Parts: sequence; C-alpha cells; structure tokens
Amino acid sequence: MTNQKPTALRRNQSDARRIARAAYPHPGCCICDNQHVELAHLDHDPLNNDPDNLAWLCPTDHHRFDRGLIPLDGLKSFRAHQQRVKGKKTTLYMKDAGSKAAASRAALGIGSEIARKAHATRKRNKQIAP
Ligand SMILES: [Zn+2]
Repeated sequence: MTNQKPTALRRNQSDARRIARAAYPHPGCCICDNQHVELAHLDHDPLNNDPDNLAWLCPTDHHRFDRGLIPLDGLKSFRAHQQRVKGKKTTLYMKDAGSKAAASRAALGIGSEIARKAHATRKRNKQIAP
C-alpha cells in the first residue's frame, strides 16, 4: 500500500483551471483585472473544484483574500461583476453624469446660478455639436 491518495482525492490543478476557464471566461483578476492570475480556492480546499469555489486572482489579491482582508461575499460579487463587464472600466456608468446632475438640479430648481448657467452652456454646446 502506498501513501498516495486515491486519484479522485488528489489535487488536480489542470482540472481546476479547466473548470474555472469554463465558468469564468474573462481571464483577469476579479478585483483589479490584472492579467497575471492564479486560481484561488475560496474555501482553501484544493480538492474542491466546484465553480463557486474558484476565482481568478492576481498574486496580491490572492494573498489579501487568504489573509482575510477581502470578504468572501465581496469577492463573489466582484467575480460576478468582472465576468459581466469583462474587465471593461466601469466609468461608462459615469458618462454624462455631470450634465445629467445639472439637468436634474435645473429641473428641480435647485442649485446655484453657476450650475444653471453651466447646464445652459452644455445644452447649447450639445445643439451646436454635430
Ligand atoms: Zn488583483
């Protein structure tokens, strides 16, 4: 008899990577989108290759997660978000935020005279632009 574990219980990193690639096709770190990633087992059990237990993390964020500095539910939220936006910067959510805020203030009749003037200028410039 050997000390080797049965095949099914041995750590299989290539299986884990295959499962993670299928479940999370965007290859960047869940937290920072660094493309140099390691595969993290979220329950720290290298035999648990359930997709929910896997996440791509850069070495820095992997270290932070393993030390408990990144909460598990937060990491899972980041992982879902990262796959949804495929690493695109989320500043698109802020597109035209300034002019929209100015429009809201103007519609509500709140804000300073300067803000109303800025809104009028943006509106005028938008009409001039092709
Ligand atoms: Zn990272």
